[in-house]
Amino acid sequence: MLLASIGGMGSTDDVVLGDALQVLQRVFGYPEFRGDQADIVEHVIAGGDALVLMPTGGGKSLCYQVPALVRPGTGVVISPLIALMQDQVDALRALGVRAGFLNSSLSYDERRMVEAEFVHGELDLLYLAPERLTSEATLRLLDQGEIALFAIDEAHCVSQWGHDFRPDYLSLTQLHERWPKVPRIALTATATEATREEILTRLDLSDGRQFVSSFDRPNIQYRIVPKKEPKKQLLDLLRTEHPGDAGIVYCLSRASVEKIAEFLVANGIQALPYHAGLDAQTRQRNQARFLREDGLVMVATIAFGMGIDKPDVRFVAHLDLPKSVEGYYQETGRAGRDGLPSTAWLAYGLSDVVQQRKMIESSEGDLAFRRRAQAHLDAMLALCETITCRRTMLLDYFGESGVPCNNCDTCLTPPESWDGTVAAQKLLSTVWRLRNERGQKFGAGQAIDILLGRKTAKVIQFDHDQLSTFGIGDDLNESEWRGVVRQLLAQGHLAVEGEYSTLVLTETSTEVLSRKRQVLMRKDPTPPRATTRAAAPTAKARQTVDLPEEAAPLFEALRDWRAQQAREQGVPAYVIFHDATLKSIAATRPTTLTALGALSGVGQAKLAKYGDQILEAVATATPPDGVTTEPVPAPSPKPKPKPTSKGGAAWGSGTADDEWPEPEEPDEPMDW
Ligand code: ADP
Ligand code: ZN
Repeated sequence: MLLASIGGMGSTDDVVLGDALQVLQRVFGYPEFRGDQADIVEHVIAGGDALVLMPTGGGKSLCYQVPALVRPGTGVVISPLIALMQDQVDALRALGVRAGFLNSSLSYDERRMVEAEFVHGELDLLYLAPERLTSEATLRLLDQGEIALFAIDEAHCVSQWGHDFRPDYLSLTQLHERWPKVPRIALTATATEATREEILTRLDLSDGRQFVSSFDRPNIQYRIVPKKEPKKQLLDLLRTEHPGDAGIVYCLSRASVEKIAEFLVANGIQALPYHAGLDAQTRQRNQARFLREDGLVMVATIAFGMGIDKPDVRFVAHLDLPKSVEGYYQETGRAGRDGLPSTAWLAYGLSDVVQQRKMIESSEGDLAFRRRAQAHLDAMLALCETITCRRTMLLDYFGESGVPCNNCDTCLTPPESWDGTVAAQKLLSTVWRLRNERGQKFGAGQAIDILLGRKTAKVIQFDHDQLSTFGIGDDLNESEWRGVVRQLLAQGHLAVEGEYSTLVLTETSTEVLSRKRQVLMRKDPTPPRATTRAAAPTAKARQTVDLPEEAAPLFEALRDWRAQQAREQGVPAYVIFHDATLKSIAATRPTTLTALGALSGVGQAKLAKYGDQILEAVATATPPDGVTTEPVPAPSPKPKPKPTSKGGAAWGSGTADDEWPEPEEPDEPMDW
């Protein structure tokens, strides 16, 4: 039987990479290892300890799953992602791997069964919540079975300075003390040097080998657009480039999550909210639906995400500025784990800078905390305002060098830069006059009205038409002036203060005013919508990139078949087959089991289980030349977004740049 034949093949004495490759091909259906996988697998099979740093989607799981199948005994996986263990185990079982988990969600009987399986050597992989290891009972249980390896997933949770710190991870040093001969492999996608050092020390892994992969995610297209009418821009993105696709929309606050989810639903897009303020049951239900169903959009705060290994998230959109480049990279990294083209899109505007600066200013953290937060924000702002390749800048942030990628907005439509020194001086001197000469507190709106020479009621009331800078800025329009304010804030030559976000000068403002410093600015592309489109292939263009047009109907039919299977079995659709696999089936139209089995993602267990059904679906689908040989099962049409009239009530007013919203309470990460 297949199940029995997979576990415990080979022995530590005659380990060759051949065994591993065989497992990769037979069980997982992948023709070859990717990147460092082969080296890592070989090292761990031979009994070595390892620290693996790989970006999300890099393929970390196989690094311990394959050795666990090759080495005798059970691979014990420590993971903080309790809510996702069931899915991880389901996915392995679908491959014919004998997997189980132990966490607080199990009943007494269920737990006893898994324990018995482990003791009797009937498990290839056992997932454990870290807190289990603090109980002597679990340690004694582990003594009773044979352990192939320990995999410590999300290893950055051991870092006391990180956001994801889990005190229970500190107890993991005992693994080495208690089972010195069992290899340990720690894995994480969090890359900073400091975290890496901390993992090595705390897990006592300094003698192990480190495998550091490139953090580049070439299939993700990075785009940062000026925020004008964010809701409308988002809807535009979803309709023109990602109709029917699964994706995540990140918002800062719980309130905006609710608002945006409602807005999308009102516009015919299947969207669900997720934030820490929802009750656990609703969160769990929405997460499960997102993972299981095709084409759902999750509108979420950063509470959503860690460990979400849904491979076919086609876009990650940010409607608010992330607090750091690390956060941004981690969140956008949830797109395109399957390697297919995906979009990371961020709408960013003046209000974001103001809001974030204010949030830091009013935070309760000490000075050191605020400095750190400020430095993180500055790096994020620099990324937003750059006129060079975004990817190069991202990789540089993580200590990697790169060349212009041709798959980010600045590469695809290079923005112009301009010497904004004079404009900056006009604005800064207006602020100086208001603040220092007259002792008045005003925000950006008033400063811009003054520069544009507008005799508004407020300008008249305060005699601002008497200022020497009144009307000297009519060479730029309002939106360009907003860009100037935003970039001065981003570059730190201007600051905001107090409840009403009044503008104040900074230490470097005087350098700009006295011409000691040049200010280069990015020219915001106008009109933004046209640029957005031009910057990225349209939905159709994308389709032809990774799927020939004539294969689309078969792909849709296969997706429908998969959705039905997933529903019947109560597992996520990707557990049946990944999109990438369905696409290669649709493109190559295999007619034999051998041909089908040769495709990436079709292992032995799935071939045996679904092979005939797939071949039948291929045979009965309309051939590419359009000649129908047999009656075609009508694929159920995907729900099309309802057309809505432009500018309809559903747009709402949005957080347009001209509003400076009060800082909303940002949500906290919360993943377990
Ligand atoms: P990570 O845990 O690093 O985020 P995963 O282990 O979830 O990444 O892998 C990401 C995706 O890449 C998964 O869909 C996985 O099946 C696929 N994958 C991993 N290794 C390979 C490989 N050698 N060949 C093809 N696909 C792979
Ligand atoms: Zn680029």
